[in-house]
Amino acid sequence: MGGYEAVIGLEIHAELRTRSKMFCSCDASFGGEPNAKTCPVCLGLPGVLPVLNRRAVELAIRLALALECEIAPRCIFHRKNYFYPDMPKNYQISQYDLPLAVRGHLDLEMEEGPFRVGITRVHLEEDTGKTVHVSESGRIHGSEYSLEDFNRAGVPLLEIVTEPDIRTPEQARLFMQELKNIMEHLDVSDCKMEEGSLRCDANISLRPRGSQDYGVKTEIKNMNSFRALYRALDYEISRQREIMENGGEIVQETRHWDADANTTTPLRTKEYAYDYRYFPEPDLVPLEPERALIEEVRASLPELPAQRRRRFREQYGLPDHDAWLLTSSKSMGDYFEEAVAKGPDPKAVSNWMMGELSAYLNARGMEIGEIKATPSQLADMVSLVEEGVISGKIAKTVFEEMLETGKDARAVIADKDLTQISDEEELAAVIAETIAENPKSVEDFRRGKEKAVSFLVGQVMKKTRGRANPQLVNELLLRELREGG
Ligand code: ADP
Ligand code: ZN
Ligand code: MG
Repeated sequence: MGGYEAVIGLEIHAELRTRSKMFCSCDASFGGEPNAKTCPVCLGLPGVLPVLNRRAVELAIRLALALECEIAPRCIFHRKNYFYPDMPKNYQISQYDLPLAVRGHLDLEMEEGPFRVGITRVHLEEDTGKTVHVSESGRIHGSEYSLEDFNRAGVPLLEIVTEPDIRTPEQARLFMQELKNIMEHLDVSDCKMEEGSLRCDANISLRPRGSQDYGVKTEIKNMNSFRALYRALDYEISRQREIMENGGEIVQETRHWDADANTTTPLRTKEYAYDYRYFPEPDLVPLEPERALIEEVRASLPELPAQRRRRFREQYGLPDHDAWLLTSSKSMGDYFEEAVAKGPDPKAVSNWMMGELSAYLNARGMEIGEIKATPSQLADMVSLVEEGVISGKIAKTVFEEMLETGKDARAVIADKDLTQISDEEELAAVIAETIAENPKSVEDFRRGKEKAVSFLVGQVMKKTRGRANPQLVNELLLRELREGG
């Protein structure tokens, strides 16, 4: 990136997994008939009063503790005033200068080494409704009219703000993956970036490498996947760098990531806190989480990714790299442990997951939860390799078919006639044939060129479509060549 370094801070919103909304008893689940999940409170009708959802507070404390934040003994809600059709009250109940939790951190590791991202704050607020712009692009520009769905209005939302401690798009992506991973372990949110239950805005600026000052930042919105986050930041770095290299100045503004065009475009100039006329929410009492509740939540925290990673190294003897990959999401770790529980060598299972399985997922942009092969099917397949029923090479073909079809390894092996040939007599015939067809290699071998034997093994493997047991072929060939001389 030449003489510049990127400075990145993220603002994440996660919808909390509660049954009812933040301040009323409406159903908080995703989707449904538009505006069916609404009531006078979440529609902002006059004369109604909000009542705080206790479960939302518990879930927020759960995440805040997992991020090692301090929970405020007393916090309050503020009204954030602005006008937008998706917000019927014309203000959002949020938190401002007295948030629920502050000063946490998340430790991460990349090949270049470990790094820590400070968590500035974790606070509670409510989600807005959803505006559907009726136009081809779905964006407001050029739309004929817009429709409002308030089912989402008032759904409990957690906002997490990081310190500007992130330096690269890779780090930003890893942070988001790990945060999602943690939230999945805690079961506090659905974490579906495509459905919008997990959203991320990125603030980014550049500064000359070595400088300690912060440059003017832009805020990027509308990234609904890890990949989008990475690409948007990558793009924004080049955009800002080009302006700076040409002596221009970065304008502080909010920009919109357009995944199709692979660019960010200006959305609006930056709004400031004073634009929102924040003032304490008069309809809610201050929130003072009791010590006992906090300790109860702390005691109930499940194993988190960092602990699971450590346990994977110790319990299964896995290298660091394996432990990281296998705990990169809850479902990945669960899949691994379910497979290993059936008895195969953990490192072998890990190798299949990091190799073939990951390649399969990456190529198709799939999640492990979407594949057809079950953990127990993978375990069986690995055991068949361990028992010598199929060779490691054949196993790749078998596994691919398992992933495609969801069939058991044994079924695939039977259908395709892939069992490893370890029968000496059956192999002897193929070996004799191979020797007869390759007099030159046989000659080479007899003149002391030991390597000629690998070529002959290869020929036998080819004739048997990879089904011959290679060690045995090697042995038999050597015996034949030495004795047959
Ligand atoms: P704002 O006044 O725009 O709300 P904040 O100081 O509240 O800015 O920070 C919002 C987010 O932007 C945080 O995640 C923070 O880490 C990040 N941030 C702040 N300053 C910068 C900067 N100069 N470059 C990149 N990110 C920044
Ligand atoms: Zn309601
Ligand atoms: Mg701010």
